[in-house]
Formats: sequence, C-alpha cells, structure tokens
Amino acid sequence: FRLNFSHGTHEDHAKVIKYVKELNEELDTNICLLQDLQGPKIRVGEVDKGVKLKVGQLFTITPNEMIGTNEKASTVYTNLHKDVKPGDMILIDDGKIELKVKEVKGEDVISEVIYGGKLKSRKGINLPFTKVSAPCLTEKDLKDLEFGLTQDINWIALSFVRSAEDIHELRERIQKAGKNCRIIAKVEKPEAMNNIESIIEATDAVMVARGDLGVEIYMEEVPMAQKKIVSLCNRAAKPVIIATQMMESMIENPRPTRAETNDVANAVMDGADALMLSAETAAGLYPIEVIRSMVKTITSVEQQSENLYFKHDLPAEDDELFYNNTLVLASCRLAKASKAKAIIGMTASGYTAFKLASHRPKANIFIFTSNRPLLNTMNLIWGVRGYYYDKEVSTDDTFADIEEILKEKGHINMGDVFITTASMPIHARGRTNTVKLNIVD
Ligand code: PGA
Ligand code: MN
Repeated sequence: FRLNFSHGTHEDHAKVIKYVKELNEELDTNICLLQDLQGPKIRVGEVDKGVKLKVGQLFTITPNEMIGTNEKASTVYTNLHKDVKPGDMILIDDGKIELKVKEVKGEDVISEVIYGGKLKSRKGINLPFTKVSAPCLTEKDLKDLEFGLTQDINWIALSFVRSAEDIHELRERIQKAGKNCRIIAKVEKPEAMNNIESIIEATDAVMVARGDLGVEIYMEEVPMAQKKIVSLCNRAAKPVIIATQMMESMIENPRPTRAETNDVANAVMDGADALMLSAETAAGLYPIEVIRSMVKTITSVEQQSENLYFKHDLPAEDDELFYNNTLVLASCRLAKASKAKAIIGMTASGYTAFKLASHRPKANIFIFTSNRPLLNTMNLIWGVRGYYYDKEVSTDDTFADIEEILKEKGHINMGDVFITTASMPIHARGRTNTVKLNIVD
C-alpha cells in the first residue's frame, strides 16, 4: 500500500495504516506500507472556478498569494522567478497546459500560452528544461517523515530524486531516528536519468514514476528509460516499481483498454518487481476490478513468458560478498536443473531474499526470518513469500521444520524437489554458505 503524502492529513494516513496492520493480522498476510513523500513538487495555488487559458495570451505566475484568474495565478514555490529564464517551458497539469517564459519581472514570471485549457486549483507545475533549486526534502517532507517514522512504515519513497546525495540525506535522517525503513528513489527528473547508476547504488529500490517523468523528459523516451532502469535494477538486485497510468481508463470504466493491458504485460516482461496503481484505486469507480484485471494479466504473462526467468548474471568479482553471491546464483542454477518447486532462504537482514529474487528463478522463493518487520518489507520483492521462524535448533531440525511448514501450507508435495540455502553452523549466524537439494517425503 502506497500512502501518497501529496494528499491527506496525518490522521487520514494513520487510519489507513491501522487498517492495513489489522488486516495483515486477520488475513495472515505481509502487505507492506510505503510512505511516499511529495518532494519538491511545484503546484499552482487556488484558482477561481471557470478559469481558462487561451492560446497566445500572456499568463503570469506569482509567489504572492491570490485567487487565480484568467491572467494570473500564484504558486507557493518562491524561487520560480530565480530558476526560470526566457524561453523555458512551463507545463501545468501533467502537460495539459504549456507556457513559454517571456519575461521575469521582479518575482513574477510572465509567459505566453502555447497550449491552453481549463486551469484548476493545486495542479502540478513541471519545468522540464529548468534546474529547480528547491531541496529534495522540503519542510513538508520533513514533517511527514517525522510522522512516518513513528508508524512502522517499511518503505519510504522520495520524489524528484536528482542525485545519490538525496538518498544519503534521507538515509541519514532515518538512521538518526533509529529506524530501519528502506528507501525507494522515484525516478521522475532528467537529472535522475543522468545519475541513474549512482542513484541505484545508493537506494534500496526504485520507482519508475512515469507521471512526472513523462513531462520532465520527452514522453516518447519513457519506454526506453523504463527498460533501462528495470534492467539496471534487476542486475543490482534492487526491487523496481512501475507506476502511473497503468490502468488509467479504469478510473471510470470497468474494463481496461487493450493498450493498458499490453502496458501491464510489458512491464512484467521488462522485469518489474511491482506494478503500482494510483487514482485507479485511490479515487476510481472500480478499485477491485482494476486489481483483478491487473492480477490476471500478470499471472498470464508469468505463466507464458520464458524470458522473464533465469537471469543468471555472474556476480561481480570485486564484490565483498562475492562467495555469498556465487552461492545464491548456484542455488538458482541448481533449482533450474533439478526443476525444483521451491528455493528456501534464511535471513536476518533480507540480503538473501533480494539476491535470490534478482536471478528470477522459476521456483517459488520462501524466506524464513526471525526479523518480523522484514516479512512486510520483503513483500515488495519479486516472487518472495516470507515466514516467521525463530527457533534456535540444529540445521537438520530447522530444515525439517521448514519442510513441515511448506507442506502444511500446500506449497510443496510428496516427490517435489526443493532447494534450501543456509548458513552453517546455524548458531554462528553468518552469511549463507550452504546449498542442499531435498525431495519431499
Ligand atoms: P506521484 O508519483 O503519483 O506521487 O506523482 C508517481 C509519478 O510521478 O508517476
Ligand atoms: Mn510524481
């Protein structure tokens, strides 16, 4: 569940968080919570009803608070006049309205309307060719973060990330609060595309935020950007979410368009860990139908597409966990060769889960951990199902317990092959160093 902090009060969000926690208990699920910080999103202020911009007219944006008219509207972003220069493009409402800066007069930015239309209150402003000077964590974000850090949130997403430094800054704040939330970098700026390798290295996961990305860079470049980001994330074993307008027409219709179904299917084939819905479930007329439709498409592709699986890139030799990584890869290869039903990992940090999933084995991945919050965190990772296990017994006993649990849940049956990975001796709590092939009896 993404909690979008561009909207709603802390009380509203606290209510949703409580529901999700209660339902996790009731249904024995591990649904994770994602706090999405708004970041330096620039918006128009309040605008009068019926305001409409005409092609060719002049339109002014001012930091001084006012009710917007046909000629002028405000923004709370106070640096707009410093950031833009004549000729720059200003897009409003996901690019529905386009302005071209003519002149900066004091704090006012005077522009010409290139594409007009209805202007509504609080719509987003994008400056595709302008370096925005606002910090990545705004005052609002810091307040929201402070709240989020009291709420057992698993993932925190940062909007409009421009460099790895933005991620480091957020991580420092999380660590200072003594929390262990993981970070999602939302890629929705051209600067982020330019720094994509270092951002992926710094973050724990990535979101391809196609809504803003599609106006910040040329929309036509988004499909290849998506493929590039997903492929880099897969290789780095960092989960990647594809977001925005996946099922847009289902905000109002009970069925998606053919193109939307294809987009969902292609995102799965690209190698996404997760697909995200926004208005479709937050404000649409068919929230349940849209999830059903998406699940059906995902399932169909996962059953039929072969190139989704077996990403067996060799681990980097200079990685400090080279031997550990090699062992995880070997377990995935063994699972393929033995047509195993399942691969089992045990982890306290989650590392094995991220690594196993990154190879996209065709076997189910079951992760056992004594780290309870990690069960929810891992829910974002492709194909991973987590189980709580905290007994301190011998490796033999642990393996026997795990086999029992998986049999009981119906995940493995008599005669099935499953691969276990573990750290031996088990009480030393070291890195995974053992692979074992098992047959259910
Ligand atoms: P948003 O992020 O919905 O918070 O804007 C996603 C996107 O930009 O695609
Ligand atoms: Mn966005």
